[in-house]
Amino acid sequence: MTPYPEPGTPCSVCGEPLGPASGAFCDSCGEPFHLNQREDLPGKDCGRVWINEDHLGLEFACDRCLNPPSALEEVLELEEAAAFVGLAAAELEAAAAAGHLPHRRTGSGILLFSRRELVAWMEARSGGA
Ligand SMILES: [Zn+2]
Ligand SMILES: [Zn+2]
Repeated sequence: MTPYPEPGTPCSVCGEPLGPASGAFCDSCGEPFHLNQREDLPGKDCGRVWINEDHLGLEFACDRCLNPPSALEEVLELEEAAAFVGLAAAELEAAAAAGHLPHRRTGSGILLFSRRELVAWMEARSGGA
């Protein structure tokens, strides 16, 4: 049984303090991270828990271990992506809507871009202009 991190412990992924029953320890790096343990309460998830089919135990992993930081693979939200390429968010959103810029849209409607795609798009854009 993985113990809960103490409330107030900073999350190793986002740096914000954990609340009561809102954290877990990562099985890979051992660091605490946000994991909402209460389905009836809204909470933040900075990682994942799943059942290991081999020994039917719960496994915990933080987002840093699930997605090892790699500058080019980094996923940016619209505002971050706009700041990264130095354009208005609306311009980026329009390019995504027009299908020029590869993107993902989360269930809650948030646009996500990868740094690699943004770099490629900017290169194509400056080359074509
Ligand atoms: Zn967090
Ligand atoms: Zn980890």
